[in-house]
Amino acid sequence: MLNKYGIVLEDVSLENYNTYGIKTKAKYLVKVKDINSLKELVSYLNKEKMPYFLLGKGSNVILPDNPFSGVIISLENLNHYSFDHNTLTVEAGAILGLVVKDAIKKGLKGIETLGSIPGTVGGALYGNASFYKDKTIYDHVKEVVVICNEEIKTILRKDIKTSYRYSSFKDCNDIIVKATFTLEKGNIEEMQEEEKKIREKRRETQPIEFKNAGSVFKNPIGYSAGKLIDEAGLKGYHVNDAYVSLKHANFIVNKGKATSKDIKELIAIIQNKIKEKDNITLELEQQIIEWD
Ligand SMILES: Cc1cc2nc3c(=O)[nH]c(=O)nc-3n(C[C@H](O)[C@H](O)[C@H](O)COP(=O)(O)OP(=O)(O)OC[C@H]3O[C@@H](n4cnc5c(N)ncnc54)[C@H](O)[C@@H]3O)c2cc1C
Repeated sequence: MLNKYGIVLEDVSLENYNTYGIKTKAKYLVKVKDINSLKELVSYLNKEKMPYFLLGKGSNVILPDNPFSGVIISLENLNHYSFDHNTLTVEAGAILGLVVKDAIKKGLKGIETLGSIPGTVGGALYGNASFYKDKTIYDHVKEVVVICNEEIKTILRKDIKTSYRYSSFKDCNDIIVKATFTLEKGNIEEMQEEEKKIREKRRETQPIEFKNAGSVFKNPIGYSAGKLIDEAGLKGYHVNDAYVSLKHANFIVNKGKATSKDIKELIAIIQNKIKEKDNITLELEQQIIEWD
């Protein structure tokens, strides 16, 4: 039945669908064919009261250890994008890094600082991704197309609320399916240089050699979460195979068989320690997912 909507995997391991490499499972994973199939699939699942969860590249989530009895929806095949003069139209499952690379090649400026964020365009719009705090994915968004209450709707940029790692998509169940960006003319060499600089900085400062899901905590106003954790002496602290990175204390890395439980226990230890020492509550940037 589900294969009407796309490619269906059954009893699937999600280890390769989340960047922590948590070895959890799902009853079904559907790689939808196109936007219409996605809309029909959502209506079908709602009618059948089957739970579902939308996964991008899984680079900002802590999936649960227990298997999911429902359907993981993957937008992997909703990855088309095109340029028309300075307008970029992109489907939500497209890999942000690939889109950025092509925009730069075309001499289009506006998203060049986002090229090394390892997720989908949809995931980046959901979480208002950025490398520099003052240059986010929303700077050049014109409109976002969503599935809302089983209908396809277009939302203008002005009607989307955003702040540090927040978009109003976090407060509703809309599925982002497509977005349009208005870019500017830019110098290709300068943009390539900037991209390279950011990639080098990441290699130097972030533990990208290990499985991780980016920054664990948001930076509290006026502080660096990594510095607070480092000063608390927690670098290298671990719960089984979940370690506070030695390279960057705001990263938790999976050095082998870390489970969701290990990662969440380590998070609680860090939060308690920083509360006790600095009286600061560290808020998660990553998203803890729960399912039955
Ligand atoms: C090494 C590393 C470095 C990173 N650096 C950065 C950085 O510099 N800046 C930054 O902002 N982030 C960074 N991240 C975090 C992460 O890559 C981003 O948050 C990314 O935008 C998440 O995209 P995703 O496709 O992986 O989303 P996922 O992790 O798959 O999903 C995250 C949330 O978005 C929802 N979602 C996904 N797609 C859609 C959609 N189409 N419609 C509605 N909801 C959707 C999911 O349901 C989930 O709730 C980093 C991660 C890693 C591993």
